[in-house]
Amino acid sequence: MKKYRRKKKYILSKSLLILALLFALKTFLAGGTDPMPLRGVSGELTVDFLDVGQGSCALITLDGHAMLYDCGPDDKGTYIQYYLQKQGISRLDYVIGSHPDADHIGGMDVVLTKFECDTVLMPDLERDTAAYRDVKEALRYRGYRSIQPLAGTVYDFGDAQFVVLAPIQLYPEEPNNNSIVIRLKYGSNTFLFTGDAQTEEERDILESGAYLRSQVYLAGHHGSRNASSPEFLEAVHPEYAVISCGAQNDYGHPHEETLKRLQGTGAEVFRTDLQGNIRVVSDGEKLNWYSQ
Ligand SMILES: [Zn+2]
Repeated sequence: MKKYRRKKKYILSKSLLILALLFALKTFLAGGTDPMPLRGVSGELTVDFLDVGQGSCALITLDGHAMLYDCGPDDKGTYIQYYLQKQGISRLDYVIGSHPDADHIGGMDVVLTKFECDTVLMPDLERDTAAYRDVKEALRYRGYRSIQPLAGTVYDFGDAQFVVLAPIQLYPEEPNNNSIVIRLKYGSNTFLFTGDAQTEEERDILESGAYLRSQVYLAGHHGSRNASSPEFLEAVHPEYAVISCGAQNDYGHPHEETLKRLQGTGAEVFRTDLQGNIRVVSDGEKLNWYSQ
């Protein structure tokens, strides 16, 4: 509102008054006390790592396109719905449930029910849980079918693309290791999302020979010690790592040794439990970070 107040003493003519009002409107639309910039600037890819407590949810937008990588736990579905609606989003190009654990697909039934979802990606793994049944029910209700993406498949997202790197093999006993792993590229900026992939799935990806180097790394399994193995981090070589976890969570995430490993790469570490919602904006060359 600063610009508006500065203008006030100059209100001598109608045109200046209109100008002042336009400034006020622009400031208001920019979110009032919200330090995050207005979404939707042409040619800018935005990733919001939402603070969904102990869970994970990333909203990615670019030129009117929107996608979700994970949908947080059950009690955050409505929060995610309002967050998206507040930003004028009614349609999602992709909804990815990295793996069928409640802290990743708990809010997915709300998302599927409230938004037009073009493509729903989930791994080929069923779970006998309320969260999984709710997602199945929402898919049925909407007439959607989830797709099990094959490693190596490339999907377009506006002028960006993401490639699916895993799962490469199924681990029926360990849902985390069936996580859909994607590497998103926009211009020269790169982002890696690994869900709750643990050391075994990380090894599969390394052995596949996939190119992993990524500037932004959503730390696997909420910064758990059984993810972000040294070999994997060496290949990713992130400049920034984001940890999505709940404050004082029962699992002790992020684990101290993982934090050290992440910091050891030289990456700057962001945490939703400490910083709330975290946003990174890419113009295809530079990355700018914001938190709320
Ligand atoms: Zn998880």
